[in-house]
Amino acid sequence: MKYISTRGQTARKQFSEVLLMGLAPDGGLMLPESYPEIGPAVLHEWRGLSYPDLAFSIMSLFATDIPPADLRDIIDRTYNAEVFGSDEITPVRTLRDGIRIQALSNGPTLAFKDIAMQFLGNAFEYVLAKEGESLNILGATSGDTGSAAEYALRGKAGVNVFMMSPEGKMSAFQRAQMYSLQDENIHNIAIEGMFDDCQDIVKALQNDAHFKEEYRISTVNSINWGRVLAQIVYYFYGYFRATTSNEQKVSFCVPSGNFGNVCAGHIARQMGLPIHRLIVATNENDVLDQFFKTGEYRPRNASHTYVTSSPSMDISKASNFERFIFDLMERDADEVQALWAEVGVGKGFDLGFMLDTIHEKYGFVSGKSLHRNRLEVIRQVYKEEGELLDPHTADGVKVARELREAGETIICLETALPAKFAETIAEAVGAVEIPRPAKLAGLEDLPQRVTVMPANAEAVKQLIRDTLA
Ligand SMILES: *Cc1c(COP(=O)(O)O)cnc(C)c1O
Repeated sequence: MKYISTRGQTARKQFSEVLLMGLAPDGGLMLPESYPEIGPAVLHEWRGLSYPDLAFSIMSLFATDIPPADLRDIIDRTYNAEVFGSDEITPVRTLRDGIRIQALSNGPTLAFKDIAMQFLGNAFEYVLAKEGESLNILGATSGDTGSAAEYALRGKAGVNVFMMSPEGKMSAFQRAQMYSLQDENIHNIAIEGMFDDCQDIVKALQNDAHFKEEYRISTVNSINWGRVLAQIVYYFYGYFRATTSNEQKVSFCVPSGNFGNVCAGHIARQMGLPIHRLIVATNENDVLDQFFKTGEYRPRNASHTYVTSSPSMDISKASNFERFIFDLMERDADEVQALWAEVGVGKGFDLGFMLDTIHEKYGFVSGKSLHRNRLEVIRQVYKEEGELLDPHTADGVKVARELREAGETIICLETALPAKFAETIAEAVGAVEIPRPAKLAGLEDLPQRVTVMPANAEAVKQLIRDTLA
């Protein structure tokens, strides 16, 4: 299988090349030339598979330039009970009102990004070793993404991670999670400033072509194709767990920000998984909800993005959205290029005339959830089931309940564990004990390793030079 760019100006590439890429050179996102079609016979065969077996069956259709035994090894080292807490990896449970919850958050950093990042860490190491190369990953984080990347790449040969975070702006738990890592290839940099300052430094270093090449600087953000691929697997797995035959359909409700998670659901549906609807749930930052209701895509800048109690969805420019629009435009790269030229000048676009296609052919619908909605869901589920939901998952449950049709099976994706968001949980239900996986007991008491620096790109460059010297 070969990969192409949504902007159409990049030569076709192999999987292992795409794996190490961010944006395509033409500014687009990489996608398979076509999606493999999964017919009834294969679905039937896959129904009984374990998570790693299913992951291998799906990923080997896409990672065609990695020898099967090597891919199998990467998958077995990634998807096991030691890393994800159980052999099920992403178990499905049922709330009293019949809504299913698929737990994607039992990995090392308690958020769904681990599912993809843990795979990417092992796959990176494999590809770099094979090519005798090394890579320095540079990133900025306000919490979830940075820790998922660090836990995926810690101790991996051929990779260093330089992760910037705003000094004093993350929760005690988040700081402890990142700064307690003692691996020599993980470098935490606390910047005296805000998250935006961290991101500006990443951009400044990315734009310094000479520095970037000399120090082999790369990133792992949510547009990476390997991450989307790894996420396709749990849609299949969740479907098999929530149904007894392949004649049945289910809908997925996905707490969304950058559209990476639900983009994998879209691809699973295109491959032939019997998904009825893909329900996009947003928080107060409702750019995607607006699109799926009106066809208007109006991305906003940072100053028009609210800080909310489901912070990992505080996004007003959905970086993976272009992949869906490419399919919607029947893969007309010129059309996509024209639409994103409008996005580039801050205008966005209006596809209102395609709303029927978006809803009927592609199954997308959406809803939004506000602070008081998520508190209400957390409170109500706690009262009735004695179980705590994280704020992002609560947004999903709110929207799923609102949109559910008679007889519809909806799987809500649980994107984080409540232990990460103690403040909001306390606001919803008062001071209760929030369950935390045993391996994270006493996390905040561990010694921490972090370098504090001014918000200055030159200073960060010098630190990287000194570290790699
Ligand atoms: C990243 C994240 C999301 C949003 O996922 P996207 O792929 O960006 O749409 C939702 N919930 C949590 C907890 C996350 O960490």
